[in-house]
Amino acid sequence: MAAIRAAGPGQDVTLLEKKDSLGNKLLLSGKGRCNLTNTEDLEYFLKRFSKNGDFLRDAFKNFFNRQLIDFFEQRGLRMKIERQLRVFPQTDRAASILDILKKELLNSGVQVIYKAKVINLLLDAGKVKAVRLENGVNIACDRAILATGGASYSFTGSDASGINIARKLGHKIIDLRPGLVPLDVKQDYPRRLEGLSLRNIRLKFSDGKTQIISEIGELVFTASGISGPLVVTLSGKVIDMLAQDRNVFVEIDLKPALSIEQLDSRLLREFKANAKKSIKNALKELLPLRLIRVFIEASAIDLLKKCSQITQKEREKIISLLKGFRMDISGSRPVEEGMVTRGGVSLKEINPRTMESRLIKGLYLCGEMIDVDADTGGFNLQAAFSTGYLAGESAASS
Ligand SMILES: Cc1cc2nc3c(=O)[nH]c(=O)nc-3n(C[C@H](O)[C@H](O)[C@H](O)COP(=O)(O)OP(=O)(O)OC[C@H]3O[C@@H](n4cnc5c(N)ncnc54)[C@H](O)[C@@H]3O)c2cc1C
Repeated sequence: MAAIRAAGPGQDVTLLEKKDSLGNKLLLSGKGRCNLTNTEDLEYFLKRFSKNGDFLRDAFKNFFNRQLIDFFEQRGLRMKIERQLRVFPQTDRAASILDILKKELLNSGVQVIYKAKVINLLLDAGKVKAVRLENGVNIACDRAILATGGASYSFTGSDASGINIARKLGHKIIDLRPGLVPLDVKQDYPRRLEGLSLRNIRLKFSDGKTQIISEIGELVFTASGISGPLVVTLSGKVIDMLAQDRNVFVEIDLKPALSIEQLDSRLLREFKANAKKSIKNALKELLPLRLIRVFIEASAIDLLKKCSQITQKEREKIISLLKGFRMDISGSRPVEEGMVTRGGVSLKEINPRTMESRLIKGLYLCGEMIDVDADTGGFNLQAAFSTGYLAGESAASS
């Protein structure tokens, strides 16, 4: 988007891409469907960013969700709005978004050079003078836009090399941390339940003092912990709790729609109707099969105990596990596995009205490499497109 916007009469724009194809992360976005943006209004939109949302106000005022949707619709790709106002292409294919961007690069006369990894910028009296490629070639230019992404899913090309270039040039880098990332837990349950997905559950993360309560949604067990939309959305806050050396645990409310009293009468009913069955068989009505063994182990009740023999104390234990199945959080997956990178080039040294570096004339920074990150819902791509658009516009008019 930055290159497309920068191109125009009198501008000679070259896009340098280290991989042999463009938009590899874009193709993965939204599970291959690309959640392009969100139709929420500006104030709500800004609140969905970790902490630095306000920095984006100018970029969003200049080019926001409506303009981004129009950009694609005017080029023949219809959009649709799904739950929580998430916007997707009607084709359900991220490749449709990428195709339009590639066509537009061509139409705007941008020269694209593949397998061109940038390793540094050369300066002359504090101004951009050339871009240095890994193969030793220098490409002369008087303005350069860095849009090299974060540090995750490095096989897509975004491996923090652009952030390191900014560092070499004197920019302060806020520590890179994973965002929107699966969490690890201490117990071995996830390993035993890997791949099992629990729908319509609620999560409560706590460090004993502060509580973070999720909406109702889905959780997926991974080899070492938990993932899924609820987990990745809250992962940033949980990582912040862990960073303060606190013991953090999660409680899964497996039956968020039922109160303790309702669950108690439900269990009494089930146990009466299935008096001769083992507890293991009776719980099939309430829990996914794969979860039952682990669940009963956690309750310390004998797996083969008949329903008629379950004591009130044991029933209370089952209810407390149904309302709060506890696991201790040991950490998160690394930056590489985050859907987004938190941290990056410090915003203090970037002009929010132009995206130009405050340290180096002719250098513009945009997209995930700068210190902004947001929730899931299309907010991260909109930030990348808006800051890219503004960087391109400012670079062309400076
Ligand atoms: C699995 C997954 C799903 C996602 N889904 C969504 C979603 O649905 N909605 C949403 O809003 N966000 C989503 N995101 C986040 C979103 O994709 C990113 O925030 C966004 O792609 C960032 O755009 P960018 O242009 O800044 O960086 P990138 O898309 O990472 O692009 C950077 C480009 O720069 C190139 N490059 C890097 N270093 C160099 C170098 N030194 N020299 C030359 N070229 C270089 C890379 O090869 C790459 O082509 C998802 C992320 C992941 C990982």
